[in-house]
Amino acid sequence: MWDYDVLVMGAGPIGSTLARLLAEKGFKVGLVEKKKIVGLPLQCAGLVSWKIKKVNILPDEFIINRIKGTIIHSPSDHTLKISKDDVEAYVIDRVSYDQHLAEEAVSNGVELLTNSKVTKVDYKHGEVTINRTDTLSAPILVDAMGFKPGQRGFHAKQYLIEYQDTIMDPKFLDLKINANISPGFLWRIPLSKTKARIGFFSESRKPWDFLIKFIKGFSPHFKIIEKYHGNIPAPDPNRRLYKGRCIFIGDSAAQVKPTTGGGLILGFRAARIAAEAIEEAITEGDHSILREYHERYHEIHDKEIKNQLRLQKTFKLLGNEELDNAILKMKEKNLKDIIITYGDMDDQTPLIQEFLKRGLITSLIPSLIWKKVTRIWK
Ligand SMILES: Cc1cc2nc3c(=O)[nH]c(=O)nc-3n(C[C@H](O)[C@H](O)[C@H](O)COP(=O)(O)OP(=O)(O)OC[C@H]3O[C@@H](n4cnc5c(N)ncnc54)[C@H](O)[C@@H]3O)c2cc1C
Repeated sequence: MWDYDVLVMGAGPIGSTLARLLAEKGFKVGLVEKKKIVGLPLQCAGLVSWKIKKVNILPDEFIINRIKGTIIHSPSDHTLKISKDDVEAYVIDRVSYDQHLAEEAVSNGVELLTNSKVTKVDYKHGEVTINRTDTLSAPILVDAMGFKPGQRGFHAKQYLIEYQDTIMDPKFLDLKINANISPGFLWRIPLSKTKARIGFFSESRKPWDFLIKFIKGFSPHFKIIEKYHGNIPAPDPNRRLYKGRCIFIGDSAAQVKPTTGGGLILGFRAARIAAEAIEEAITEGDHSILREYHERYHEIHDKEIKNQLRLQKTFKLLGNEELDNAILKMKEKNLKDIIITYGDMDDQTPLIQEFLKRGLITSLIPSLIWKKVTRIWK
């Protein structure tokens, strides 16, 4: 006799969402979380595109700010301002949002067990050991336990900053590219005219001072309110998303956008695909159907992920001087309009294709590396 129809491990945003979707389908769902309080500590910049409302619930009370554009900074601070007429992204209160998603799961019938750390998983028999003592079982398991030690990924550091004298335009965020952290970048995500989440991600561990320099670039008069750090998984288009009776989802399956490290939209999209496959697997009594989740997820997302990985590789070939030149050339060639028309935080392939079609990628980089770049885009 099974304890649940589905046991979801990890009450992060993706685990809670999938648990709710399955409970809405009438299944008995358990959700185990190692923390006492869901959502803490914050490990997110909280920036999501407007498309989030297409893939999940997001009540307006969790939206702190609405973003209409981006200022891209080159290493020597040449800037390119991209502005859209409509709201492009929301800055959300991630802690409250995560808690809301877990509460919504519970109010739809999910049994949430906090203080319950998964210490062993038997993928073949659907058994999960909690806190080294208790055992729970289900014919279908979901690993939504986020980034794991040993997983390939990036280090991310972030401060919540309050400036004393700088009035920022809260409708614009700043992104700074720098060869020392490529393919990562620095960000300033405004919460208000004076408050912002300022952070960066990179392959190697960089000191907090690296971030302070960027913060001081806006004004030397600031106060650090909070400090956060975390890990962003390195996406892998070949990753297997199931094992025995278990599927992997969200950060645990490295479902993040390579260029931005954002994981919410991809994870929510994956949750919808997974809910369908799990429903079928339970109805048919055949867990091998979980393979369909793997196949459908890859079928829908691999082209985009591969293009973003190519973009990352291209960036990694460029030094700071070359990045400066690329931004200057974009301004010179007035590429802003193309970026505004085809640019999209989540789906970058249309813009990449437009750049390729117009031969713009090679025109922005030094001829010395054309060959290498052409090989990446072949
Ligand atoms: C600094 C930083 C900034 C980011 N900014 C953005 C952004 O602006 N926009 C965006 O879209 N994404 C952003 N991300 C990525 C985003 O935070 C993740 O993609 C997202 O949190 C993934 O959700 P998840 O549910 O898969 O995993 P998580 O949020 O990591 O949740 C996993 C849950 O599993 C629990 N858990 C772990 N191990 C166990 C265990 N053994 N037993 C039981 N429970 C366990 C954890 O406690 C946690 O509650 C950022 C990440 C970082 C580090």
